[in-house]
Amino acid sequence: ERARLARLRFTPAVTLDGQKVELHANIEQPSDAAAAIDAGAVGVGLFRSEFLFMNRQGDLPSEDEQFEAYKAAVEGMKGLPVTIRTVDVGADKPLDRLSAAELRHEHVLNPAMGLRAIRWCLSEPTMFRQQLRAIYRASAFGKVKLLIPMVAHLNEVRATLEMTRRVKQQLLDAGIGHTDVQIGVMVEIPAAVVVLPLLLKHVDFISIGTNDLIQYTLAIDRADEAVAHLYDPWHPAVLQLLFQSIDLARRAGKDVSVCGEMAGDPAFTDLLVGMGLRSFSMHPTQIPAVKQRLLRADTQRLEPLVQEILKSEDPKEAADRLLGGYMQIA
Ligand code: PEP
Ligand code: MG
Repeated sequence: ERARLARLRFTPAVTLDGQKVELHANIEQPSDAAAAIDAGAVGVGLFRSEFLFMNRQGDLPSEDEQFEAYKAAVEGMKGLPVTIRTVDVGADKPLDRLSAAELRHEHVLNPAMGLRAIRWCLSEPTMFRQQLRAIYRASAFGKVKLLIPMVAHLNEVRATLEMTRRVKQQLLDAGIGHTDVQIGVMVEIPAAVVVLPLLLKHVDFISIGTNDLIQYTLAIDRADEAVAHLYDPWHPAVLQLLFQSIDLARRAGKDVSVCGEMAGDPAFTDLLVGMGLRSFSMHPTQIPAVKQRLLRADTQRLEPLVQEILKSEDPKEAADRLLGGYMQIA
């Protein structure tokens, strides 16, 4: 079985009805690029840059250290695109260094809803500017995209875009190499789906983080064991938000990808491709199994079935019934 999946590496992910699908890798360290290439990924859809910031002795990585890491990832991907997510610390990904709120001796009430990800970045402009400079400098060595995590508000996008404009100007003035970088937002908070038509006017692409989208939609802390049984990717609200996001982005002519755990779980492949998704990003080890599902998928037949699942009272049951049957016919 392993050998058979390994042979899929050079097979493009194309559905039975000829729809091309991009399978990207999620990575946490530049050295993970090798596994991404080995798995046949067509790029890195999510480089979780916060891993450069975690497990340190109280300091933060310098601009040069970050630049070297991003450059190594870009070079490791041999010309394929690398989507670098700006630092997403907080909640389930704590910094060893005390958080800003802790430094002010404030008690953090609810880390998942606290000063994390883009909120923290915008509250630490010196740190954030260094990261943006490092990312733009790495763009001189390959195809880099920039992804902003946990966006809830258009102002967060505006502020980040303004900082990137200043960083680019500084690099230009200093004669430091860089290229233009596509900028996207993560859709992880239901409010972002509601205002997506506005956000889409300002960004080049979106990437849906289902791990957090499920957490914030269902009000289930993803780190709380006591409510883990209520964490449900099949909840109709989650599926509606997913479909809406994919559909809105496609209608706006913007690229859309899913980079949460759902993208790497073959149990959701038919559902996602039937919602119109053509780009997935996942742990490299999941790529062959998802590709195998895609090679047997027929989007023409899946689309009406997925619409039926979206309307049903029990989407999990409907998917088992409709997609199970679909698999037998196909
Ligand atoms: C997500 O929330 O789905 C995601 C991809 O980001 P992370 O798991 O790193 O929060
Ligand atoms: Mg997330």
